[in-house]
Amino acid sequence: MPVTPAPSRAEAATDALMRQDPEIAGILLGEARRQSTGLQLIAAENFTSPAVLAALGSPLVNKYAEGYPGARHHGGCEVVDLAERVATERAKALFGADHANVQPHSGSAAVLAAYAALLRPGDRVLAMGLREGGHLTHGSPANFSGRWFDFTGYGVREDTGLIDYDRVRDLARELRPRAIVCGSISYPRHIDYALFREIADEVDAFLIVDAAHPIGLVAGGAAPNPVPYADVVCATTHKVLRGPRGGMLLCGARSADRVDRAVFPFTQGGAQMHTVAAKAVAFGEAAAPAFTGYAHQVVANARALAAALAGQGLSVATGGTDTHLVTADAAGLGLEATAARGRLAVAGIVLDVCGLGHGGARGLRLGTAAVTTQGMREPEMARVAALMGAALRGEEQGARLREAVAELTADFPPYPALA
Ligand SMILES: *Cc1c(COP(=O)(O)O)cnc(C)c1O
Repeated sequence: MPVTPAPSRAEAATDALMRQDPEIAGILLGEARRQSTGLQLIAAENFTSPAVLAALGSPLVNKYAEGYPGARHHGGCEVVDLAERVATERAKALFGADHANVQPHSGSAAVLAAYAALLRPGDRVLAMGLREGGHLTHGSPANFSGRWFDFTGYGVREDTGLIDYDRVRDLARELRPRAIVCGSISYPRHIDYALFREIADEVDAFLIVDAAHPIGLVAGGAAPNPVPYADVVCATTHKVLRGPRGGMLLCGARSADRVDRAVFPFTQGGAQMHTVAAKAVAFGEAAAPAFTGYAHQVVANARALAAALAGQGLSVATGGTDTHLVTADAAGLGLEATAARGRLAVAGIVLDVCGLGHGGARGLRLGTAAVTTQGMREPEMARVAALMGAALRGEEQGARLREAVAELTADFPPYPALA
């Protein structure tokens, strides 16, 4: 008699949802299908592991836990305290930090808390300009940062596309900002943290590193670690790091208390303990040797993709990449960025449009974190670039390209157990 394996908890939960609420269950399945049949090149996205998903879908979601382990405002925290202690210790060990706060609900919440810890409203701050690749939290007038602080933007050199460090130093000397922020949503090269530290010291400013993007590469030893240089490092846990959606802060012992108070009670209420547990799982995965291989493959794939896209007639900013990020424009193919993104979307190739930093130019932003998690390597990057080239040139019908994309991704299911 054939033996039917007992359903896993996740399968049982999905079945229960299907019976109770087929409308939402159908949406969940539809999204899983969209993720696995298209090419996910959004640089901020990844595929978390089933272990991370299990922690996220656990009863820890029920627990209220304002405060910190051993000092909570709610009773019954003795078990979730263990999860937060493990997450914090793993983060400290992974990044060589004296202190870690794993409670920020998102990358933006981490940045808000970093500013709250070090700055007062109205303070002057120097950060990468928004059109050059700064994040909304780096001074956008539509964001708290631009409303409550006095931001000035620095940019990239027009000839090289690299950060204009001379200009950063000149602006710092002229403005004497309270803090300098470095970090970007689209800068594809390593940032010289030592040089930023030197400039910050010269003008007696704090250095805040927003490493939302590269922190996963740092964990895998594929990018320089900002922790020794920054007063506070802000990060996300869901980008290259491949954990649950969330944020974290890393700092030296000197700033630990004010960072913790800036998160709770200043900017947040209760911690999301299911997410904290999932962060612990992700830190555990990132500390394993396999993650070093992953992080280096992410970069190798981005380099291969950048070179192959150049071969397809796209112009790659800075001529390549040191990270998971590639920015490129399709002007050489006669396409403006939004139109290019539209053509790619029809083929199931999903990516973003971003500012390129000079004269308001816009381009495409791609990342290789998700496709690398799926197991793709350099040969697949060449196929991806060829598919992109065909879509952008309008050589093939969208539906035909969509099929070719599905054929490629079918060999690399992000969740083989669900395939
Ligand atoms: C992604 C990102 C953030 C914000 O993260 P959210 O979780 O979306 O709030 C902040 N700063 C930088 C540089 C980022 O890339």
